Amino acid sequence: MKKYLVLNWKMNPQSLKEAEELLKIIKNSSPSLKIIVAPPFIYLLKAKEILKNKYQLASQNVFWHNRYSMTGEISPKMLKSMGVNYVILGHSERQINLKETLSFVNLKIKACLLNNIIPIVCIGEKERKKGEGISFKIKKIIFDQLNEAFKGIKLEKKKLIIIAYEPNWAIGKGVSEEPKEVEEMANLIRFWLERRFLNYNPQSFLVLYGGSVKSSNLKQFLNLKNIDGVLVGGASTNKKELKKMLQC
Ligand code: PEP
Repeated sequence: MKKYLVLNWKMNPQSLKEAEELLKIIKNSSPSLKIIVAPPFIYLLKAKEILKNKYQLASQNVFWHNRYSMTGEISPKMLKSMGVNYVILGHSERQINLKETLSFVNLKIKACLLNNIIPIVCIGEKERKKGEGISFKIKKIIFDQLNEAFKGIKLEKKKLIIIAYEPNWAIGKGVSEEPKEVEEMANLIRFWLERRFLNYNPQSFLVLYGGSVKSSNLKQFLNLKNIDGVLVGGASTNKKELKKMLQC
């Protein structure tokens, strides 16, 4: 299976012209990875137009109803009609800055599954003491987040769920998690999944890592056996970095 490279543009770039430039770089590449591009909503149509069906699109949020009076939100059905098959959910920037709760994330995961959209669910601890490693405390934080995000969710056949382990202290900080610890965390997440879902099927879940991944450290995460790919934020809208990563 091809490993995933999810490009989370966050609130970038600042103009459609720059977005087009990035999209053309992606279009003209021939990566060996499965690329999912997650631009801001406003660039999705242009992304679809330029990338056609060669690459997959993700949005960075979704509302949990299709029909509702809800100013400023986008429904799962609207996304599907634009060819968006993935949604990034529960990003720590939304949880911290917009006070998005895991109960909202839970509703959004349910809405995605109902509308045949693959959720990319971000989990990860906010802080970690230097040298703490994956301590009992960190494990509990991760299990609590998973319990809340997946409350009441049943595993249906042929559905795919992506979990992105993104420790907040590594996001946009230039310091990534040690590959050894990413591997340990991926095992821990799979351990939780196996116990949580009675009809657990390893093919229904992918585990990604995100947090200060760039061209120079991309391979060390992609080479990890139990990691299915990476989610890249900052480096994904840097033209030089993007070109290098797409050559992997
Ligand atoms: C992210 O936004 O999900 C992310 C991982 O950001 P960065 O790569 O900039 O750390």
